[in-house]
Amino acid sequence: MLSGKTRTLREWSQKIAYETNALAIRALHILTPYDCVLCGGNSSGGGNLCSICSKDLPLIRQPCQYCGVETAQSADQLLCGPCILKKPVFNRCVAVMSYASPADQLISQFKFNANFAAGLALGEILALGFKSHCDFHGYPDAIIPIPLHQLRLKKRGFNQALEIAKQLSSSTGVPVFNNTLTRIKNTVPQTEIKRAGLRRSNLKKAFTCIDLLSHSNAKNIALVDDVVTTGATLNEAARALFIGGAERVDCFCIARANR
Ligand SMILES: [Zn+2]
Ligand SMILES: [Zn+2]
Repeated sequence: MLSGKTRTLREWSQKIAYETNALAIRALHILTPYDCVLCGGNSSGGGNLCSICSKDLPLIRQPCQYCGVETAQSADQLLCGPCILKKPVFNRCVAVMSYASPADQLISQFKFNANFAAGLALGEILALGFKSHCDFHGYPDAIIPIPLHQLRLKKRGFNQALEIAKQLSSSTGVPVFNNTLTRIKNTVPQTEIKRAGLRRSNLKKAFTCIDLLSHSNAKNIALVDDVVTTGATLNEAARALFIGGAERVDCFCIARANR
């Protein structure tokens, strides 16, 4: 059995390997023309994607004003059916892409193969959506990533939502609060549960939040995740943030699955 000390050393080595990898990629990105992370072609524009692959991204054009799903409706019908029936707990969700090719490939490369160049490409795309939203609606007091449970964090070695949150922070100056929201229940991934009722009970009381007002006076929160499926995770995390004293919670996600 591993001792507590051994586990800590392993966590540190994973963290250092990740930080070194991300730094090396950033340095390469600055010093040399970088290969497109999708097709391997030259991304001469300085990004992690070439211009051809960038054009293939499934950007959301007509989002539901609450949950961010592509509505495919005219601009005067701004809510999707489920949001008309029941408003989400959070104020608004901004997702930049539909969960479709090639966004799904980039996300899976980042999340499951620790491909940090793919992570940087995704962070750059979300940062554009984040900034254009905040330029219009105002900037949040803090960026809070959806936390992983400790057991899953140890297995994966990094929290993809935190890495994206750091990129949003470095391009806007809004601080990341990483220890404010905690996942206290090691839930089954929502995608593995078919029934909506079971999904809700799976996430019930999954998150807890420290008292925001006594720690930071942050009231306007940007909650960050990689993929939103039904919105149940964001709802439960937002519920915990409101109990902790938040007055507004807007969610920012790379991709939104169709309901
Ligand atoms: Zn390409
Ligand atoms: Zn909606």
